[in-house]
Amino acid sequence: MESNGEFIESVDKIKTRVVGIDIRLEKTTYAMVDIRGDIIAQDYFSTLDFPDVNDYVSTLTEKVLTMVEENGGYETIRSVGVSAPSASMTTGCIENAANLPWKGVVPLAAMLRDRMGLAVAVANDAHVTALAEKTYGSAHGMKDFVVVSISHGGLGSCFYSNGQPHLGFDGFAGEVGHTCVEVGGRQCGCGNLGCLETYCSKQGLVKTAKELIEKSKEPSLMSEVEDLDIQSIAKCCDKGDKLAIEAFRQTGEMLGLGLANYASVINPEAIILTGDILQAGKWLLKPMRESFDRHVFRNIKSKTRILVSILKEGERDVLGASALAWDVKEYSLFK
Ligand SMILES: [Zn+2]
Repeated sequence: MESNGEFIESVDKIKTRVVGIDIRLEKTTYAMVDIRGDIIAQDYFSTLDFPDVNDYVSTLTEKVLTMVEENGGYETIRSVGVSAPSASMTTGCIENAANLPWKGVVPLAAMLRDRMGLAVAVANDAHVTALAEKTYGSAHGMKDFVVVSISHGGLGSCFYSNGQPHLGFDGFAGEVGHTCVEVGGRQCGCGNLGCLETYCSKQGLVKTAKELIEKSKEPSLMSEVEDLDIQSIAKCCDKGDKLAIEAFRQTGEMLGLGLANYASVINPEAIILTGDILQAGKWLLKPMRESFDRHVFRNIKSKTRILVSILKEGERDVLGASALAWDVKEYSLFK
């Protein structure tokens, strides 16, 4: 009979850790995540410090490998997952990102794979956020759901159908931010008029607030605030400021309309919302829900849950990127 030690040597070991990387304009966050979704180590650096993408990828590789060496070693890492704006899962490239310092097409997956010697999967930020919600968050166990991320300038989304993410013919599915909610409305960065994100992003909310102050004869506490943002407008709401409440009401009205159109087309079990703007709580969510119920197709009205993400803002996308890493075929250059 074999001794226990010999038996263990006669089976293969699996690698129980991956690296998740979240690339944004302001910072790049990277983490080692284990098989249970626990973050073992996490750190970040400024993306804008690297206008040259080759310098960026070299520095990122160096920082990740240093973290790995300090926390168990290279041989424990199975693969790497990356979240980035305007990235295509099909090609592994970042393509013409408006929100990153590098122009044109960046073959990020290939560049990282060459330098790290590990399998690398790349996907766009909206897709990775949805994967995080499915694996560790509010969409756990769901097969049909939408995740909408509301950021400073835009609204990204990804939806799952029958347990699979819907990528679309060319990988650009889910651009709900660029659906029209006001014919001839505000100018959008995409070139069209009246896109949802021109009203419901953080910038859209601030613009609505400023328009209200300008047009209304009603006095408002908001006119005393130097830099209007979500928090300061919400604070004015708490003090009963009518124009601040109206700014969130109009934002919620547009968001509810956009989400109702979305839900009427794909009939999700739930819509999960992420982003700082949700900190405004009832000031945004109540008018949004009312608008949603008014506009959505009646047969799905009471059956669509609207949820706010339960994952931490700083952890969601590295967790999603780590989940992406588990999906890629294992490969290691330096075993
Ligand atoms: Zn647009």
